[in-house]
Amino acid sequence: MDIRGGRRSSNIEDRRGMRVGRTGAGLSIGGIVILGVLTLLGINPLPFLGLATKEAPVEMQQGEQPYQESAQETEYRQVAEVVLGETEATWGRLFGGQYTPATMVLYTEMTPSACGTGQAAMGPFYCPSDQKVYLDLSFFDDLQAKFGASGDFAYAYVIAHEVGHHVQHLQGTADQVQQMRQQAGQAQANELSVRMELQADCYAGVWAHDAAPRLQLTDEDISEAMLAANAIGDDRLQRQAQGFVVPDSFTHGSSEQRRRWLKVGMDSGDPRACDTFRTQQL
Ligand SMILES: [Zn+2]
Repeated sequence: MDIRGGRRSSNIEDRRGMRVGRTGAGLSIGGIVILGVLTLLGINPLPFLGLATKEAPVEMQQGEQPYQESAQETEYRQVAEVVLGETEATWGRLFGGQYTPATMVLYTEMTPSACGTGQAAMGPFYCPSDQKVYLDLSFFDDLQAKFGASGDFAYAYVIAHEVGHHVQHLQGTADQVQQMRQQAGQAQANELSVRMELQADCYAGVWAHDAAPRLQLTDEDISEAMLAANAIGDDRLQRQAQGFVVPDSFTHGSSEQRRRWLKVGMDSGDPRACDTFRTQQL
């Protein structure tokens, strides 16, 4: 993957190095650990975060010094800017010019969002209430260290997946699913989450199909993304966390499913191929 031919997004909000303080009673260390564990288990912690912030919103203060990034962080940031810019090009075309881009917030450790306080331990997430993707670039170090997935295109896949959630929000799918989940039992609610996540993977693939010539994607890049999709499937995450697999609590889909839906998007380049809600075969 060569980012030099790509378009850089300007929809970036750089909050790195800003200090975050709690107003009033804060989220306890125990609370933060629980959120981290939920995320590792593949459970979306955002519903819990909403509860956390009602008690104690965080405030941001500009640091005294501008944030000094390492050479590695510069590389990650450049990839993130180009991938976001390229998703804007793809979805702008697919939405016929009616696409409202998401903003990407770069932060370190902790930051406020309209969905609650973002914690680096949660990994990247999308908040529909403010239409922002939250990313602590150190997640890419973790992806490499914990899951053995590295390379620019592996990082690109992670970002394109979050942008996929933004597309679901713009399409109204996210709201519909949220309503259905509230009336569903636990197992069915989980299944809806899995379908939602696999569609975001498929949308990441649709983007990759479109951006491939501009970013000169190679077979090796595709393998990197597949490895990342494989590495962060719920079955793998659960096996690492508790040593066995509990299919009912999957909220992102198995490694095999994630890989397959990413490929459906990549091969077709067509968002209509990503109807994970109507398919019998996930
Ligand atoms: Zn997701």
